[in-house]
Amino acid sequence: MSGLTGKVAVVTGGAQGIGAATVRRLEEEGATVAVVDLDARKRSDAVHAYDCDVTDLAAVEEVFARIVADLGGLDILVNNAGITRDNLLFKMSKDDWDSVLSVNLSGVFHCCKAAQKYMTAQRSGKIVSLSSRSALGNRGQANYAAAKAGIQAFTATLAIELGPFNVNVNAVAPGYIATAMTAATAARVGADPEEHQRTAAERIPLHRVGRPEEVASVIAFLVGDDASYVSGQTLYINGGAR
Ligand code: NAD
Repeated sequence: MSGLTGKVAVVTGGAQGIGAATVRRLEEEGATVAVVDLDARKRSDAVHAYDCDVTDLAAVEEVFARIVADLGGLDILVNNAGITRDNLLFKMSKDDWDSVLSVNLSGVFHCCKAAQKYMTAQRSGKIVSLSSRSALGNRGQANYAAAKAGIQAFTATLAIELGPFNVNVNAVAPGYIATAMTAATAARVGADPEEHQRTAAERIPLHRVGRPEEVASVIAFLVGDDASYVSGQTLYINGGAR
């Protein structure tokens, strides 16, 4: 039993990719799930879809208040919204830097800030944020790597601050997962997405790239009862890659 029946979850960036797979998985486990995304109502077929840009703190606070009013609470937050703007440092613009830090790191701060007031008041909650294997360093991704490494430090700190309120805070760090994000990365280097995946798979001990559902299942574990004593951790989901 995962213990998700009757829980209310928010998944940011839930309209596609890993986020959409997470929405499906949490719903299968019995949670009521709100998708928070850019144009969520147009792009997602989820029952509870909310348009919101996570870079805007006031908008995030307003939408979280609406979700709590509509769905009766907030038990689980999955910080999944993310973007890439890859460039080597000498070509990386300030906008490449600011936009990636703003969505991937400040967006997580905004959503945690909005969620913590409900979770600390009810003295329970689960937060999982999407870091990345790129947090260890990845060519052309200085902005993204910094944001994703920042998520790990932020997670460790929030686990200390929110633990006394019975709130578990963790991160997952996927490797190469086949989504629109990785297809766009392939396109940027002029590669066919499937060829790009085959090349990446050669360096992965399990000899294949991951599927969004294989990240969603780990997120479901971390927000469920089976992970009740896990907090402050970053769990790598990368087929054994270094
Ligand atoms: P994706 O591009 O398919 O989906 C990202 C979602 O985030 C989209 O629906 C997008 O609209 C939403 N989003 C972007 N900016 C937003 C904003 N400002 N406000 C609200 N929503 C916004 O990406 P994905 O591959 O499914 O990745 C999901 C998460 O997993 C991201 O945080 C990504 O960095 C992380 N991740 C992905 C991989 C991978 O290989 N795909 C690996 C490691 C980490």
